[in-house]
Amino acid sequence: MERSRQTKSPMELNQSPHYDLIIIGGGINGASVARDAILRGLTVCLIEKNNFGLGTSSRSTKLAHGGIRYLEHFEFTLVYESLRERQLLLQNAPNYVKPLTFIYPVYKSGHRSLFRIRCGMWLYSLLSRNSTLPKHKMLTKEEIIEQCPSLSSHNLIGGMMYFDAQMKDYELVLANIKDATDNGLHTYEKTIVTDFIKENNKCKGVIIESEQGTSKIYGSCILNATGPWCNHLSKIDEPTAKPLVAPTKGAHIIVDPLQLPHALTLEVPQDNRVFFMIPWEGKTLIGTTDTPFDGNPDTITVTDQDKDYLLKAANMYLDNIQLTKDDIIDSFAGLRPLQYSEEKASKRSRDFSLFSSNSGLLHLFGGKYTSYRHMAETTVDYIISKHPNPKSFSACKTQSRKLD
Ligand SMILES: Cc1cc2nc3c(=O)[nH]c(=O)nc-3n(C[C@H](O)[C@H](O)[C@H](O)COP(=O)(O)OP(=O)(O)OC[C@H]3O[C@@H](n4cnc5c(N)ncnc54)[C@H](O)[C@@H]3O)c2cc1C
Repeated sequence: MERSRQTKSPMELNQSPHYDLIIIGGGINGASVARDAILRGLTVCLIEKNNFGLGTSSRSTKLAHGGIRYLEHFEFTLVYESLRERQLLLQNAPNYVKPLTFIYPVYKSGHRSLFRIRCGMWLYSLLSRNSTLPKHKMLTKEEIIEQCPSLSSHNLIGGMMYFDAQMKDYELVLANIKDATDNGLHTYEKTIVTDFIKENNKCKGVIIESEQGTSKIYGSCILNATGPWCNHLSKIDEPTAKPLVAPTKGAHIIVDPLQLPHALTLEVPQDNRVFFMIPWEGKTLIGTTDTPFDGNPDTITVTDQDKDYLLKAANMYLDNIQLTKDDIIDSFAGLRPLQYSEEKASKRSRDFSLFSSNSGLLHLFGGKYTSYRHMAETTVDYIISKHPNPKSFSACKTQSRKLD
């Protein structure tokens, strides 16, 4: 195990430190709450068992988007909020988030009609009316092929061009942490939380293990922001607790650049799900799958089945080229920390949950990467509202603060 990296920690003084807020999990949720809280004046530490940002938050499809497909599930508030946050990301984090042009080609054999997609685009534009991105437009079959020569023209009717954004997901986590550490955040990397310290059945601190051994950290508030690992921490706190998340796996493959200057929104012919082919760092990223996963989140892999599923879907839309497993340069998979429910995974809400257990341990999970800032603001508002002296903290600063 590498040496635990700790910034100006009171542990170096051999004391058990005390913070207003202890955050467990250094993905985007933990990082953004840490930044928001520290900028408002709380004392905060962030604990990550591996390296920051290497969990789900570096395995996304890298889209800062409203999620046009969630309109089908009537998640209008989620889409509206994500589109508002997409705009804030474009303004405040231009080094990490850039506009991306999408083409949604419509085929005769497709599940969604051109009319339905036009209605969806109209609604998407309406929900993003404050956006600086261009408005969507209709494209003819000829215009689509001219723009994307690798795309199959067989049965193509026409389609839409629309605009979303692409983000450097891993770097955004680090940028949030950097801004927070510059303002006093204490970080514990390669440090795992193994237990909670309780007094009168209330959580008062955490036990941590790192290369330096086992020690204690105390906090007025403790936040479980471990994404797909949330259930594990919740069970340590309350062994009889019901699961909080029921993760689904999303796999991606990366191939050499196809002749696709724009991103494509496509339907998986096998099951009508939406998937993407996206230009990414000079290559083409294809994803994702969506399959239930109830194993240990540390053991997630991209299986042959995942690769076959994505290759089969992509090949249906390619002219003059058929991708095989030999064309896959790289692949990665992540777990969507979706709220636990009896519903089918595709029907479950993509919105976030903030929940306090009987011991006072707070759990933050779910949500989309795109709306992390809003999620963090809501969480810190809640934490401050429970503080004995809430007026001693300033208002949220992240709406207009740049991320360099
Ligand atoms: C396949 C896929 C594609 C996606 N695409 C998009 C997209 O294009 N756009 C979008 O907006 N959203 C997308 N999302 C959603 C988004 O990526 C996630 O919601 C988000 O990254 C979750 O972040 P997190 O901080 O909750 O979890 P994570 O990033 O997983 O962070 C949790 C951290 O907790 C740490 N941890 C666990 N246990 C402990 C412990 N005991 N002690 C200390 N640390 C611990 C882990 O090591 C991990 O680093 C996608 C998700 C997936 C899975």
